[in-house]
Amino acid sequence: MSDHVLSFDFDNSYARDLDGFYISVQAAKAPSPKLVLYNTGLAAELGLDPEALTSPAAVAVFAGSRVPAGAAPLAQAYAGHQFGGFSPQLGDGRAILLGEVIDTKGRRRDIQLKGSGRTPFSRGGDGKAVLGPVLREYLMGEAMHALRIPTTRALAAVTTGDDIMRDGIKPGAVLTRVAASHIRVGTFQFFAARKEWDKVQQLADYAIARHYPDLANKDDKYLGFLSHVAIRQATLLARWMQVGFVHGVMNTDNMTISGETIDYGPCAFIDQYDPQAVFSSIDRNGRYAYGNQPIMAQWNLARLAETLLMAIDPDDSENANRLASEVIGGFSGLYAGLWQSGMRAKIGLADHKDGDDDLINALHAAMQGQGVDFTTLFRTLSEASLGQPEAVTALFADKAPIEHWLLAWQDRLQRDSQTSAIRVANMRQVNPLYIPRNHLVEHALQAAEQQGDYAPIHQLLDVLAQPFTARDGLQKYEGPAPVDFGPYRTFCGT
Ligand code: AMP
Ligand code: MG
Repeated sequence: MSDHVLSFDFDNSYARDLDGFYISVQAAKAPSPKLVLYNTGLAAELGLDPEALTSPAAVAVFAGSRVPAGAAPLAQAYAGHQFGGFSPQLGDGRAILLGEVIDTKGRRRDIQLKGSGRTPFSRGGDGKAVLGPVLREYLMGEAMHALRIPTTRALAAVTTGDDIMRDGIKPGAVLTRVAASHIRVGTFQFFAARKEWDKVQQLADYAIARHYPDLANKDDKYLGFLSHVAIRQATLLARWMQVGFVHGVMNTDNMTISGETIDYGPCAFIDQYDPQAVFSSIDRNGRYAYGNQPIMAQWNLARLAETLLMAIDPDDSENANRLASEVIGGFSGLYAGLWQSGMRAKIGLADHKDGDDDLINALHAAMQGQGVDFTTLFRTLSEASLGQPEAVTALFADKAPIEHWLLAWQDRLQRDSQTSAIRVANMRQVNPLYIPRNHLVEHALQAAEQQGDYAPIHQLLDVLAQPFTARDGLQKYEGPAPVDFGPYRTFCGT
């Protein structure tokens, strides 16, 4: 226990500048808060005293029982397309923004409590979260961050002492989430659905100032805003695809304007390569299947574009439509370029030559239907770049297509400018050895939930903090789930 003081240097621009975009709220008091995970590295980044995280006062803050000095707690309004259907009013039904801090690198970050009780946006819900999903979000955010993928992160997870009714009684928990902001495509949709165009523009001005300040003085800043969000989201999607991440609920209320991954619900990493992979029990039509994600991001971006048409050209809707459509249409090419450059790095190419895209596509074709573990393949390829391809061939049932591919690849490597020593080092830096394997995540969550044993999640967090660095004794963290783990199903866990 520590006598250090947790003190946030809040500067709450959302509360100050966006009156009418939120409702001020109070969190529910937790009967007996207990700290279960906390993030000293992130605390330091936020300019907080890492030793203060474990103080009783800090734990009360993380549980929602105590409002920290300088906070302006509020629930944000937003709408959203959920699995294609529009809900005009969602909003923070179980989350509260405490405020914003400027971190040690000068970046403005939101501090939000997730699971801290009812708000005016809760509809029929209880506003609470339960331990398993809170731990999953903590773990996934940290794993993605270590994989260098833009993401919200967790500062702390507490149990509240509440019993929560879900499928059975579950321990209540609160996640303290840190984000570049919580502005979503759905935040724009909330005001556009009400034809409050002045508010849409005000929100866009705020988002530009916060995320894309270079645009602030441009004549076509709203179109520029749309283009910049398109770039951030295309970048994010390419990164997801390159590690085999399936978000599971890419609704427009779960897509940020900042380009960070948000809302880790029924997400999972693929083991074997399969564009049709779906893990979420509620995604019955495979709308958000692994291979569909880039298209769905483009679809979501089109929904953002619709909200911005009036701001893009208030006098000529045809012109606004044409300009926005160009950006949306351009998303496919933008994404493809980012995906290809990332894939070139994954297969060890520093240069861009004719035929590279075919080589990348041929590798995916060779993987199709082979049950090949995606992560293992690229890591094995990294080692094979030094000249021993047998370990790669061994991963495939059908050897001929991959043997053919390996010959073409080795021929291409000869014509690349990198030395083999630099190549293998670079490949190891983009092809992770350790990812949050579904069976390991489940095991760690179950140990914590059912036995109060946090050792497995601590170990997993430790391993995943350095996903690219091979370490002795961690073999069990490398491979896919054992066959008896069976097909993986995830649940929203709200
Ligand atoms: P999500 O599926 O987490 O993206 O949430 C979709 C919407 O449902 C958001 O408006 C949430 O605030 C709301 N929501 C989810 N779970 C709860 C809950 N337990 N109580 C109240 N609102 C909730
Ligand atoms: Mg959400």
